Amino acid sequence: MNSDCLFCRIVAGELPSDEVHRESGIIAFKDIHPVAETHILVVPEKHIEDLRQLQDEDAQLWLRLAQVANSVAADLGHDQGYRFFVSVGPGGGQTVPHLHIHVLAGTMRRLPA
Ligand code: AMP
Ligand code: ZN
Repeated sequence: MNSDCLFCRIVAGELPSDEVHRESGIIAFKDIHPVAETHILVVPEKHIEDLRQLQDEDAQLWLRLAQVANSVAADLGHDQGYRFFVSVGPGGGQTVPHLHIHVLAGTMRRLPA
């Protein structure tokens, strides 16, 4: 837990979020500035700054994050599929330095180039 980190504080319940799923080690909540009809963030409890810090020991966690993304999209009725993306570092447009997967579905705006 990094007390300077926005998503660590959400995971810890210190800051509110519109949660759609929580299980051991992972939460999913609505993005505060949605760019699609459905815009959910899937977030590990573990503070991993960005995808480049992912370690071998995180293999199971990464699989489970992907599975949670799948099930959140399915639970919200998006049986035709969804967009899964991760911003990696400032050069990749990442604004919150705590690993998270974006789940976008339904009507969506085009992603910035
Ligand atoms: P990224 O820019 O890829 O790092 O994604 C960070 C996302 O977090 C953005 O889409 C923001 O809209 C979203 N965000 C920032 N603060 C909050 C918050 N307090 N609750 C929910 N989503 C947030
Ligand atoms: Zn964090």
